[in-house]
Amino acid sequence: MKKSIEKVIAPPAPHMVGDGFRVHNFFPGPYGELKRMSPFFMMDYNAKIEFPPSEHQRGVGVHPHRGFETVTLAYHGKVAHHDSAGNSGIIGEGDVQWMTAASGVLHKEYHEKEFARKGGSFQMVQLWVNLPAKDKMSQPKYQAITSAQMGKYALPDGKGQIDVVAGTFKDVKGAASTFTPIHVYNLYLKGGAKLDFELPENFNTGILVLEGEAVLNDKTVTQDHFALFKNSGTEIHIETGDGAKLLVLSGEPINEPVVAYGPFLMNTKQEIIQAYEDLNNGKFGQLED
Ligand code: MN
Repeated sequence: MKKSIEKVIAPPAPHMVGDGFRVHNFFPGPYGELKRMSPFFMMDYNAKIEFPPSEHQRGVGVHPHRGFETVTLAYHGKVAHHDSAGNSGIIGEGDVQWMTAASGVLHKEYHEKEFARKGGSFQMVQLWVNLPAKDKMSQPKYQAITSAQMGKYALPDGKGQIDVVAGTFKDVKGAASTFTPIHVYNLYLKGGAKLDFELPENFNTGILVLEGEAVLNDKTVTQDHFALFKNSGTEIHIETGDGAKLLVLSGEPINEPVVAYGPFLMNTKQEIIQAYEDLNNGKFGQLED
């Protein structure tokens, strides 16, 4: 049975995150649907824009996170990251940075120096992936995953390629280690591509069209729109006339209470208060601005 589309969401009005990311927040969105895409709590989408050359590296200064993972997927431009657990990295086109904040880190996210200097096209997605209560206070970690390290699935007729970021696509394994069952794929489809695959019925599933347009289970979805699927059926059929680039997200819901406040994502209000106390007491470590 086909997994039918519940709704296609147009990009909400953008806002700036720091001075480096101009994002459309697709979820949780203004209606407080905190768990509709669980374990994915948030998706900020920086649709493709041009940044002029700058000696200043635009971005977001030092800030904390606790209780979840920030996952940044780069499509155009380059992003640099530093955190108080001592991890840093630069990602470019097709790469992914998977940072597990868990018990708490300070980090900063900004345009990579050379990219900032030259300017150019910039397109990114940032996801906040929730952690189950048992893992919220685990050790922070960092996975820099280049496109080359991802599992690859080539369409049999040469009409495209799939980068398996996390989980599995058919029998191809993804690169990221995750705390709960999650599938994340980048689909690079050429004109005339056709593709069939299955995702579990109960997994919350959505597809973001990054470039071009595609027919997803009989519904045409255009660039910068997000198709949210119902939790029924398993089959997804994709066709594209002129080619498309798509991000597929699918994950087993975490059925626990969610209390979100600022940069923290916990199960109870008390844990949020504790997070601020720990932050004020220096338990998130040190990081220079
Ligand atoms: Mn952050």
